[in-house]
Amino acid sequence: MIPTPCQGCEQYMCECRLRELKAQGSTPTREMALAALHEANAGEYPNPKDAHEQADEVLCVFLEGLGYGEIVEVFRGIIKWYD
Ligand SMILES: [Zn+2]
Repeated sequence: MIPTPCQGCEQYMCECRLRELKAQGSTPTREMALAALHEANAGEYPNPKDAHEQADEVLCVFLEGLGYGEIVEVFRGIIKWYD
């Protein structure tokens, strides 16, 4: 199934979509994650740092949606070298 972007923020993998999926008893799909990562890599971000931060966010939301919130929490606690 071809994913459609979130109606709220027009992203494929975002916190609002995650809430929506949870309310439906559903989880994010492989296709949603891939669409979101391709979007992060499509050059729409002003620099590689912003694109990479967006890709980090996509993976975190995806993992959280699959029930791996503890892993995301530890990952988010790690200082980024490019900050
Ligand atoms: Zn959204």
